[in-house]
Amino acid sequence: MSGLRALPSVDRLLGECGALIDAHGRASVTEALRTALAEIRRDPPQPLPDASAILRAVGNVLADQARSALRPVLNLTGTVLHTNLGRALLADEAISAAVAAMQAPAALEFDLDSGGRGERDSHLRGLLCELTGAEDATVVNNNASAVLIVLNTLARGREAVVSRGELIEIGGAFRMPAIMEQAGCHLREVGTTNRTHAKDYREAIGPETGLLMKVHTSNYRIEGFTKEVPAPELAGIAHEAGLPMVNDLGSGTLVDLRRWGLSPEPTVAEAVAEGADVVTFSGDKLLGGPQAGFIVGRREIIAKINKNPLKRALRMDKIRIAATEATLRLYRDPDRLAERLPTLRMLSRPEAEIRAQAERLAPLVAGLLGCQVRVIPCASQIGSGALPTETIPSAALALTPAPEALAERLRGLSTPIIGRIHDGALILDLRCLPGDAALLDALRG
Ligand SMILES: *Cc1c(COP(=O)(O)O)cnc(C)c1O
Repeated sequence: MSGLRALPSVDRLLGECGALIDAHGRASVTEALRTALAEIRRDPPQPLPDASAILRAVGNVLADQARSALRPVLNLTGTVLHTNLGRALLADEAISAAVAAMQAPAALEFDLDSGGRGERDSHLRGLLCELTGAEDATVVNNNASAVLIVLNTLARGREAVVSRGELIEIGGAFRMPAIMEQAGCHLREVGTTNRTHAKDYREAIGPETGLLMKVHTSNYRIEGFTKEVPAPELAGIAHEAGLPMVNDLGSGTLVDLRRWGLSPEPTVAEAVAEGADVVTFSGDKLLGGPQAGFIVGRREIIAKINKNPLKRALRMDKIRIAATEATLRLYRDPDRLAERLPTLRMLSRPEAEIRAQAERLAPLVAGLLGCQVRVIPCASQIGSGALPTETIPSAALALTPAPEALAERLRGLSTPIIGRIHDGALILDLRCLPGDAALLDALRG
């Protein structure tokens, strides 16, 4: 017991903590010192640590606490739009716009011409209409919100007719039937999992019907003996009955991706031209912007949506509006899109370039980690439910042995490196690596 009296007091230790106090503040340092001393008293190690050992331990604890768990990571999973890693990275133009909106007041709901009240959506409406051919547009927090508010506005207390082949679950509790319920409308399922016909929709329409809905089966494909009613025909059936047709595209895209060697995903302009009265899509999937939910379509319907009190609850903040506007502007110049938009840049990186990078890095990584590193061909995915069955040829580093231990070690770096384990190796797909130095710095860090 008497040994414990030799422990320095909190006050004495505080006197030697100038640098820690500068970095973390007096309150946090005091608290960490108290905790450390209490632990030593509860379970005294032999020999007792001296003052400098205690200060080192406390410094480590404080550094750990100061490190955000939401810190940048290297996404080497091979999934470009990784939902759990935050989906799209923003273009420099979008980042600057967001920073400007954070640093100074902005004319968010202020009309600079008249000096009167302006409209939050006005910053995006023109661009969205221009890029999609829609009459009008509005924007909410994310695409799940977009679907929710559309259903609630057009079909509350009524039926929304959807094919059984399109009752999707996106993951993270977005299930179409659950969203319908929260929106206050009754799901009217028609057809079967693999086949839905025009007459299935026609027979379901009655006095209770609020809308017909098409949902892009973003994260799966039904193949084989299948039949779905194409959007133009579904719009025709809806309009004959005086009902709106809603098309939830999920990812959607504003441009034809074939231009960059990717498989086509439906464009929003196509969905609008096919007769949908409302089209919904995400901001942070293929579009490559911040999280957002876009709703484009007929003017009267958008006006109704904007009057729904949910609009206020689901609205977007000025920072994301600024970043979204800057992102949409990039689409006015498709020639430079792949250069400026990180998502498209990564998706269109040629396999040969990635392989050359892998060959350069393999020996360096092996040296830094002391493990075996092979270069292997692999297949990247787009992710976030866009083109689920398509993969893009890529190249990876395959690290062995003991892939689980290696994965844990790389996750523990100050810039964590996230790969995936496959076939007894830790696979680092280099498609999304910003440059050689990013990987080497992270490994040395
Ligand atoms: C991703 C997706 C959603 C949800 O969009 P978030 O932007 O993630 O809210 C809704 N519908 C479909 C078809 C989707 O693919």
